[in-house]
Amino acid sequence: MSKKIVVIGGGGAGTGAATIAIQRDRSLDVTLITEFEDIAYSPCGIPYVFGRQIEKFDGLFLQPLQFYRDMGIKLCTETLVERIDINKRSVYSNKGQEFPFDVLILCTGWEYEVPDLPNVDLDGIVYIKNIRQAMEIDKRLDQVKKAVVWNSKPLGVELIAELPHRGIETHLVDPSPWLMADFTDADMMEPLQQYLINDVGVKLHFGTDLLGFKGQNGKLTHAQTSAGDIEADMAFLVAPMKPATKLAKSIGIKTGSTGGIIVDNHMRTNVPNVYAAGACIEVLHGLLNIPVNLIPGSYAYPQGRLAGLNAAGGDEAYRPVYVPWGIGAKVQVGGVLVSETMAKAMGMPYIVGKATGITAARYHPAHEMMIVKLLVDPNTRRVIGAQFTGGEGVKERADFLAFAIRKGTTVEELATMENVYSPPIGALGEPIANAAKNALAVLGG
Ligand SMILES: Cc1cc2nc3c(=O)[nH]c(=O)nc-3n(C[C@H](O)[C@H](O)[C@H](O)COP(=O)(O)OP(=O)(O)OC[C@H]3O[C@@H](n4cnc5c(N)ncnc54)[C@H](O)[C@@H]3O)c2cc1C
Repeated sequence: MSKKIVVIGGGGAGTGAATIAIQRDRSLDVTLITEFEDIAYSPCGIPYVFGRQIEKFDGLFLQPLQFYRDMGIKLCTETLVERIDINKRSVYSNKGQEFPFDVLILCTGWEYEVPDLPNVDLDGIVYIKNIRQAMEIDKRLDQVKKAVVWNSKPLGVELIAELPHRGIETHLVDPSPWLMADFTDADMMEPLQQYLINDVGVKLHFGTDLLGFKGQNGKLTHAQTSAGDIEADMAFLVAPMKPATKLAKSIGIKTGSTGGIIVDNHMRTNVPNVYAAGACIEVLHGLLNIPVNLIPGSYAYPQGRLAGLNAAGGDEAYRPVYVPWGIGAKVQVGGVLVSETMAKAMGMPYIVGKATGITAARYHPAHEMMIVKLLVDPNTRRVIGAQFTGGEGVKERADFLAFAIRKGTTVEELATMENVYSPPIGALGEPIANAAKNALAVLGG
């Protein structure tokens, strides 16, 4: 009898786990169960379809379901797992099916924490997660005149940047003082905020609490905020996202301080033969040495691949994370944890080196401004965080700095880095090196 692997979840993690498992060992009996209609699509593109930067949803699907069936994976879509019997080694669905397993991989992802606000169930109040629901919302957007987006987590920032392209008057309501304030610094968000206000036409209501909603005939008409009512036909709630761990907990799997499932570096939970991966787990932050729960697909997919590989007999280890991030279009922001805001909150010693440079030769029309902010530990002289504001090149710099921090790079090493000089793609001086030199000046080096 072939070994049975059951994967719960069809997001980045579940799809990655099931495909690598069968690719590694064709004799395995691999089943993937998901409550959604689809697997292997990129929800990340949804805000850009709303804004018509991407024309249609079709391109967000990686492969049709048949592709995975042809690969040998047994796919059970629109199937909710209601219960796991760990002694019997079986999972049970809402359709009365039983799926026996030798190895179980939990890729149950994340879910929104629905806020307890008056009239939160009015028609027009939406959450973006499943692509089919997003397609239904998209059909309504041509009739939407005014929208409210609650809070500037990255998805909220994408929504406020995109909805105005559909002619929608868009309001951000956010209790924080600036964009993505949990992990960014005010000075580095200012250019993006100015762009959103002046070029895109978004109304930013910072320091403003969402208090509830008003409606007529069951339909949303206003969002109620601490700064007064805002007229709205649609409200996008980017509510806190929490790891979905109900099934895991029901079989005694331990969760940690972030609420995510605790796994070892092979993605094994504390229950034998049960693995977990993706937005439902927590992993170690390499610099801070604390667990973090990460929602992005850039973590879910490789973690799922690792869980699937090890479940199929492999032996590969996951490394601690350093978390580069980036967002934007014309004006881009990005970085790698930690920010000055976070360092202050955690009482970490730091100094700042900041520089404004350009991304191409000053005489080439392609050149754009690039602001770099580096955080350096004054004791070890190692770089501990970075943020960038500019245009093209933010993502690459964030990735590079995440790698540099992972390697324990010092500010001296960064100040003497080499760089490409080619008029359309790089200036004579690299803004990162200039920021590092400015940090050295602060340190008295
Ligand atoms: C609008 C949007 C934009 C995003 N943008 C980005 C981006 O720009 N960059 C980025 O890196 N990431 C982005 N993400 C995050 C990312 O795409 C995924 O959410 C992330 O990869 C997490 O993947 P996951 O597989 O761990 O979990 P999820 O994607 O949450 O998938 C969980 C799966 O588990 C299934 N499931 C859960 N419980 C059960 C059950 N009891 N029975 C059956 N099935 C169950 C669900 O059906 C689902 O298939 C975005 C997400 C959204 C929604």
